[in-house]
Amino acid sequence: MSHRVGIGYDIHRLEPGRAMVLGGVAIPSDVGPVGHSDADVLLHALTDALLGAVGAPDIGELFPNTDPRWRGAASSVFVEAAMQRVCAAGMRVGNVDAVVVAEQPRLAPHKPAIRASIARLLGVSPEQVGLKATTSEGVGVVGRGEAIACWATALLVEDRGV
Ligand code: MG
Repeated sequence: MSHRVGIGYDIHRLEPGRAMVLGGVAIPSDVGPVGHSDADVLLHALTDALLGAVGAPDIGELFPNTDPRWRGAASSVFVEAAMQRVCAAGMRVGNVDAVVVAEQPRLAPHKPAIRASIARLLGVSPEQVGLKATTSEGVGVVGRGEAIACWATALLVEDRGV
């Protein structure tokens, strides 16, 4: 197969006093996501997009939140594990794209650092990493500031070793 596409979604509850890590980058914020690992919603969605593209089990199956090994883990380990499966399938990343949905914090100032961080993890250039941030217009759990969500897609292309 010359191309494969995957989609991922994640949502985490937000609480005051928790560290906010997005795409492997620490973001100054009054609130942060609650989770078993570092609760990086962007890397979790991205991991599932990569895993989905190669037909692998999802992040919850591979890294159960009942496993003490992943307590407080940097979510880069999940992306790296997904990339091993991508490589094993003879594929590489063509591009990825993501939408982070949150009322706060404002992500615009951090986008270059986040894209560079994700590019490094995937072995691609920042131009191959799309990143959008939007709010939920005050509607629902995300709109009330109770949660942060993320959608991600990944396009894989056959790795011909060039
Ligand atoms: Mg998650």
